[in-house]
Amino acid sequence: MKSNASLKELAGFLKAAETILIFTHTNPDGDALGSAAALCRVLRKMGKTSWILMDEEVPEYISFMDTEFVTRDKDCLKDHDVSICVDCGEYGRFPALADKFDEGKLHLCVDHHATGDGFGDHYYIDPSEAATCQLIYKLIKELEAAVAEGSDAATGLIDKTVAESLYTGINTDTGSFQYSNTTADTHAIAADLMAHGIDHTAINVKLYQTIPMTKLKIQASILQRAEFLFGGKVAVGYVTGQMLEEAGAVLDDAEGTIDMLRNIEGVEIAAFLKEKGEAVKVSMRAKSYANVAEIVSVFGGGGHVKAAGCTLEMGMDEALDAIKKAIGEHF
Ligand code: 5GP
Ligand code: MN
Repeated sequence: MKSNASLKELAGFLKAAETILIFTHTNPDGDALGSAAALCRVLRKMGKTSWILMDEEVPEYISFMDTEFVTRDKDCLKDHDVSICVDCGEYGRFPALADKFDEGKLHLCVDHHATGDGFGDHYYIDPSEAATCQLIYKLIKELEAAVAEGSDAATGLIDKTVAESLYTGINTDTGSFQYSNTTADTHAIAADLMAHGIDHTAINVKLYQTIPMTKLKIQASILQRAEFLFGGKVAVGYVTGQMLEEAGAVLDDAEGTIDMLRNIEGVEIAAFLKEKGEAVKVSMRAKSYANVAEIVSVFGGGGHVKAAGCTLEMGMDEALDAIKKAIGEHF
């Protein structure tokens, strides 16, 4: 836990503000978008002017989520009262918008990533939470309490749409409540969100049962080329532009491939490398005991003990060698 403010104090700063710009990490996932979307909708219900600023399109696989207040317009707010970064606690994870984050008068952060030393003026970073959406749920409870202070009005800020965003983020960051980060608290929050009338079956169909055929084709191609090292304990897969072209797929289709590799019998560490322009984006996962955050830290990456990543500024062959060497040294 790395915090210099309580969620109650963060709620106080948000309540006092009028204009709030929300940021998250590049290549947003369900937890990043869910956290931002839920917070933004709640702030608007409180009468605030608030937007989620991104510098890219929302990835197709999570585009069913609440994106009403996502904008790419850097001028949507100027000299705003608060910049708040969710599911992200370092400039390196949203470099294109760092200057806009700084432009806010006060800088807040709510995150659950273990790496980094705190971020912004006031931050609440708790790596024991499975998803930032759990923290945003708790922050909203503090906002409800703050709004209720000195008023008799009903203070429920979580509606069905907010609940859907939070549920989706918790669902994706826990691998449908499977990963070891799932706690009793995770289920308690999910239960409360379900009580708000969300259609969890529809969400799960959209997340897991709407796989495009092109995705299966590229996964087959990746699996065919994957290497299994250290007696099958390590799986290393990769995707290149040429492989995508041959499968008629796009890079988004390779999303989730890392789980396929990690799920294979006997695999403890899975690494997946994606060619992205001149660089290679690396994802790494551990199943039971390995610490992949430690492995990627030698490349300046980070994340969690069992799910981490980094970017290597090199070609695919060189990157594959570097990653295999780093995993070997870890073993
Ligand atoms: P993914 O493999 O899904 O991209 O990322 C897994 C986890 O590692 C996520 O929590 C993500 O935020 C983190 N992560 C991925 N890439 C990087 C990176 O380059 N730097 C840092 N600090 N964290 C990363
Ligand atoms: Mn997250």
